[in-house]
Amino acid sequence: LEPAYSFMIRTRTPGGVVTPEQWLKLDAIATTYAERGLRITTRQAFQFHGVIKTELKPTMQSINAALIDTLAACGDVNRNVAVAANPQVSASHAQVFKQAAALSEHLLPNTRAYYEIWLDEERVDGSGSEDEPIYGNVYLPRKFKIGFAIPPYNDVDVFAQDLGYIAIIAKNAAGADELLGYNVTVGGGMGATHGDAETYPRVADVIGFVTPDQVIAVGEAVVTAQRDFGNRAVRKRARLKYTIDDRGLDWFKAEVERRAGFPLLPARPFAFRHNGDRFGWVDSDAGARAHLTLRLAAGRIVDGALDGHGPELTHLSGLRAIAQLLSGHDGAEFRMTPNQNLVIAGVPSALRAQVDALVAQHGLDAYRQASPLRRNALACVALPTCGLAFAEAERYLPDFLGHVEALLARHAIPDASINLRISGCANGCSRPYLGEIALVGKAPGRYNLMLGADHRGQRLNTLYRENIAEPEILAALDPLFAAYASGRNDDEGFGDYLVRNQVVSIPYPTPTGIPI
Ligand code: SF4
Repeated sequence: LEPAYSFMIRTRTPGGVVTPEQWLKLDAIATTYAERGLRITTRQAFQFHGVIKTELKPTMQSINAALIDTLAACGDVNRNVAVAANPQVSASHAQVFKQAAALSEHLLPNTRAYYEIWLDEERVDGSGSEDEPIYGNVYLPRKFKIGFAIPPYNDVDVFAQDLGYIAIIAKNAAGADELLGYNVTVGGGMGATHGDAETYPRVADVIGFVTPDQVIAVGEAVVTAQRDFGNRAVRKRARLKYTIDDRGLDWFKAEVERRAGFPLLPARPFAFRHNGDRFGWVDSDAGARAHLTLRLAAGRIVDGALDGHGPELTHLSGLRAIAQLLSGHDGAEFRMTPNQNLVIAGVPSALRAQVDALVAQHGLDAYRQASPLRRNALACVALPTCGLAFAEAERYLPDFLGHVEALLARHAIPDASINLRISGCANGCSRPYLGEIALVGKAPGRYNLMLGADHRGQRLNTLYRENIAEPEILAALDPLFAAYASGRNDDEGFGDYLVRNQVVSIPYPTPTGIPI
């Protein structure tokens, strides 16, 4: 008799887009095989938690039957490609999403092993000689992350990605938005290890501009350069950011151009406004369609009480009813955001009132009452699911937000839009180093308090207090909120205020090509 092993399964869903029909199938899989419902990740994937070992194969087969796969969703390969989800850029989203999905396909491993093991595909070649032109025999030194941003919103945190594409869009002669191409960024990454100065979070550099037809070539060039020059001796130094820091940005750019077979053009101007989501309804197509962004705390979608306490939720049922309503309506889609929220996109305007009624009926309208702090907060899954976690994150987020909201209210700034993130360890899956306030888990109930990032995802925060518990964290924030309430400039973010007043000083060099 073996122990009751259980597993997490993560989907590959480029840009986090699924049809209503696929949503219904994912819901059925979660209900049948997983614990704790559906979970949206910070890379726009679904995670199914607690799938027991004997049900792994039927679960994988059910996912593939929904025309979704889990191939390369983990491992030393290109992971799920993230794409700006903001509905205010829906016209551009379709174009950019298509290119991101094509790049995701292009960077998939060729191996048939996935299909043979999980989908019972017949083994036709036992020689092990499958051609892997991108990954070769040894794959990448480490995981690899790609994101596509559409200014002015940086919801994908493009500077946290190994490889980023910033869409450059301009009005054409007819007044319509036209995608001119992308600024390319390289060398972002959040992961670090406590106590190891050789590891650190890094914001990406902008290295140039490519036209839409060059997206795949430059992506392959960056990935294969990292394959060949990434550090394979020290796994903690195996991400692209370290390859660039070890060999130099100019060298890396020249290597990418050599592999791509063309020079990168000078980067085009761009400006980001913020890296959060925009909640509520947005119209498009002259009012024919509408898009609704919902807040989902830490991306968790359940029926019942979350983790056995709190109110009885019916979020899974509510979204199921909305998916049933939208099923068969061309252009309607569910779009997960990189901030673990959900856009119900492309809703025919005639159905908007019915969607609204279901949203209200199932308590999915929390975004209406929630403070800006709560709407924008992120947490990784951490305990009890993640074996690497030192401290709570997702389960601690609601309580911690309540304490911070109380402090903000005491200083008469309840609507301060502060970007707060919690991670259970230094790996940084919730991109904590880009939070204006971040807690990074050190031990049960103890965190590093990080402060000073901006709200556009362009500047990292830095360590403010090390290894402290909740009372000390709140005591540290209290006087800072008091000073911020009385001393901030118009529209000045909390992180910007702390840096301007030298409460924290950011020790990192300014990345190449990012507007200050
Ligand atoms: Fe990622 Fe660490 Fe959080 Fe686990 S605990 S999800 S590894 S940040």
